[in-house]
Amino acid sequence: MRGGAVAVVGGSIAGSAFAGAAARLGAERVVVLERSPGRLEDRGLGICTHNDRFAELVDAGHLAPDTRRHRLTVRRWAARGPAGEGDGPHGRGRPLWLQPFPFHSHHWAVLWQTLREQAPESVEYRPGTTVTAVGGDRDGAWTEQADGTRTPYDLVIGADGYRSVVRAAVCPQAEPEYAGYVCWRGSYDSALLDALPGGAAAWPEEECATVCYPGGQVVLYRIPGFDPGSTLVNWVFYAPTPDWLRLDGPTAVAAGTLTDEQLDGMREFAARQLPPYWAGVIALTPRERTLLQPVYDLATPYRTAGRLLIGGDAATVVRPHNTSGAVKALQDAHAFEQAGRRLGGDTWAPLLAAYDRERSAAGLELVNLGRTLGRAQVTGAPDWSAMDEPAMAEWWRGQLGGGGGFGGHALGRAG
Ligand SMILES: Cc1cc2nc3c(=O)[nH]c(=O)nc-3n(C[C@H](O)[C@H](O)[C@H](O)COP(=O)(O)OP(=O)(O)OC[C@H]3O[C@@H](n4cnc5c(N)ncnc54)[C@H](O)[C@@H]3O)c2cc1C
Repeated sequence: MRGGAVAVVGGSIAGSAFAGAAARLGAERVVVLERSPGRLEDRGLGICTHNDRFAELVDAGHLAPDTRRHRLTVRRWAARGPAGEGDGPHGRGRPLWLQPFPFHSHHWAVLWQTLREQAPESVEYRPGTTVTAVGGDRDGAWTEQADGTRTPYDLVIGADGYRSVVRAAVCPQAEPEYAGYVCWRGSYDSALLDALPGGAAAWPEEECATVCYPGGQVVLYRIPGFDPGSTLVNWVFYAPTPDWLRLDGPTAVAAGTLTDEQLDGMREFAARQLPPYWAGVIALTPRERTLLQPVYDLATPYRTAGRLLIGGDAATVVRPHNTSGAVKALQDAHAFEQAGRRLGGDTWAPLLAAYDRERSAAGLELVNLGRTLGRAQVTGAPDWSAMDEPAMAEWWRGQLGGGGGFGGHALGRAG
């Protein structure tokens, strides 16, 4: 119905979802320009989705109901006992709270593959294509590559993550803001857990563990392996900025590139701060499966300019405490598609305006919630030795402030 050619810059979660949405809206040609030349399947990290948000996205046709996932039911908060006392028979720490946790975990690549499969076959993927600049006006847009080649499109969608080149054109004043701490991340075959005292059996499969220490926490849960039937351990360890980390330029440290000294420093820090079982879980992670990501916040006051649009992490970066990034990206694409269906017609301008109105406010709300959770759980964390179950439940309610948003807002809720 709308016709025309659409370029999607970035072919990850947001990019794949937007490409599918644009094709279903009737674009004649949808091209996904993805910088990474390799197989995105290799990004083997965990993502969690709230059960209700997942069900909504299945109903809306973005995810398949049989997407392979791992069920989580409870979040066990724990901390080290005084002088290591009370850490329990396997050293899992003093329990603080068993919180209901109606989430499923996913392997990033399995989720991504589902999205690719849900997109119409006409979508063209071009891996190994880096977009260096974009531009446009009310009547059209273009992308440019390193060799200076410019290609015209009717619409350019920026799904190119937290250092987006499309955002630089749409909203140049919006820059990611460092939260002041990092997360180390790791994953590996959960069969390796048997090397620990108590083995894999000491940690129930449906339990997301959140292990707190003064100034941070580590969140650990299992995810499905890329190969059906296998399970991986996945962890995210919030920690102070290492003194060797430079924060000027692209700052994530990719898996496999950490030095022995950097890895040993992190493992020693974990051993000092965490109950022994969880420090052991981290120490088992191979170098090639350990990486570091500084934590950023980013909110954009608007998401469109002429025929340019941004979505997913290009538009808002929410701290991982919210467990909402992938859902937010899919909801952005859904809002774009719904606006197109609702408005019909063959011009892009009203669709872009409707998408901007609906998603800018929703994104800002999630960024603010992420900041609040980060302050409560990391930079301004309470004295864990003084916390018990009622105190934890009260502390959690205080973070949500009576509003929702943990795991993402319900689909279609006005921003
Ligand atoms: C530690 C951590 C834990 C998280 N945990 C969760 C969780 O439990 N649940 C959840 O829902 N979300 C989680 N998230 C967030 C989630 O991973 C993202 O929000 C989500 O994947 C959306 O990403 P995206 O597609 O917008 O961007 P990205 O995944 O960053 O993709 C951007 C893509 O654009 C490509 N690209 C970039 N620049 C260019 C260019 N110039 N030209 C061409 N291509 C380009 C990149 O190669 C990449 O493929 C977590 C994030 C972090 C950091």
